[in-house]
Amino acid sequence: LVRRLRPHGESVFATMSGLALQHGAVNLGQGFPDDPAPQAVVEAARAALAAGHNQYPPSRGVPELREAVARHQREHYGLPVDPATGVAVTTGATGALAASVLGLVEPGDEVVTFEPAYDAYAALVDLAEGTLRRVPLRAPDLTVDADALAAACGPRTAVILLNSPHNPTGKVFTPAELELVAEQARRHDAVVVTDEVYEHMTFDGVQHVPMASLPGMWERTITISSAGKTFSVTGWKVGWASGAPELVEVVASTSQWLTFSGGAAYQPAVAEGLGRIGELVDPLTRELGRRRDLLVDGLRAAGLEPLVPQGGYFVVADAAPIGVSDAMAWCLEIPQRLGVAAVPVSAFCESPAGVESLVRFAFCKSEDRIREGTARLRA
Ligand code: PMP
Ligand code: GLN
Repeated sequence: LVRRLRPHGESVFATMSGLALQHGAVNLGQGFPDDPAPQAVVEAARAALAAGHNQYPPSRGVPELREAVARHQREHYGLPVDPATGVAVTTGATGALAASVLGLVEPGDEVVTFEPAYDAYAALVDLAEGTLRRVPLRAPDLTVDADALAAACGPRTAVILLNSPHNPTGKVFTPAELELVAEQARRHDAVVVTDEVYEHMTFDGVQHVPMASLPGMWERTITISSAGKTFSVTGWKVGWASGAPELVEVVASTSQWLTFSGGAAYQPAVAEGLGRIGELVDPLTRELGRRRDLLVDGLRAAGLEPLVPQGGYFVVADAAPIGVSDAMAWCLEIPQRLGVAAVPVSAFCESPAGVESLVRFAFCKSEDRIREGTARLRA
């Protein structure tokens, strides 16, 4: 294995799911839903398979999915995405993130992101031989520190990698915070790569605002999303990038040499689903909001101090009140000792300093599992 990948080791999600399986633990670690996918979307995939959609789709994606993504961006956010030139379908959001970073970052370039950060970001920046600069989101309020952000950005900043709604904290960036990011991108002529995989998972009336909708940002933003979270089909690995043609061209050109294409029969099914968000996804999001409350209450009852998330799949909780000082060690131990799996927030950070006792729990799980998992923690 090349030297630059060695420090990344095994993804924490694989480690913790492995332990959950080994010990029969309730898996509140890795973020995949227990809920079935919407029936209409599964049926559409079945129909596409039966109709013989079994060969390579076009590298940029099948026309109906590109149309559906363009229409989705227009109808939900007013973004002028062109289906022919403004969409590139990829192998999950991860494929779009990889193609963006590898296609935009020269060796020695800098990439700025907020920490904690989804674990793939640091590995991808290392693959591109770039340098990641991390701007902390500090608990409990998780607001963007404008000075820290400005200090992290400079003439070598090629990309600002943003994630809203945010994994692991569930923070939804406000328009004012997005504007702080936009200002830095404009000042340093950087591209914002925005990971919006949880775009439809927001609670309490909080609205997701895409970076590309801010003034002057259409021209410098690559917007990434995925069917995995929106339709509870994380194993399908159908994602996409959308935006201005020159930027999407970067993703499409790079993606050719990564995987070329994939998911022939899934792509038309995702296209079907994207046109029916209100009917197929909004009820799941309301249910997810109830599961969030159940998890937050269960964690409190177990003596932890949860931060209440506005979006996404996860609750970050401080386990210091129950005596946890090393969340990584604790998360490696509890699948066997308590029968619960979770993920330490330190896996999203360069160093555990400041997050030693923070643990991430997923609520995209069945009510029974959330009840059982939190009961085991309480015991
Ligand atoms: N970005 C974030 C913030 C995620 O939480 C995930 C994991 N679901 C991904 C990207 C990867 O998405 P996909 O499975 O579509 O590659
Ligand atoms: N995004 C999921 C999570 O945060 C996991 C994705 C993965 O396993 N690679 O839990």
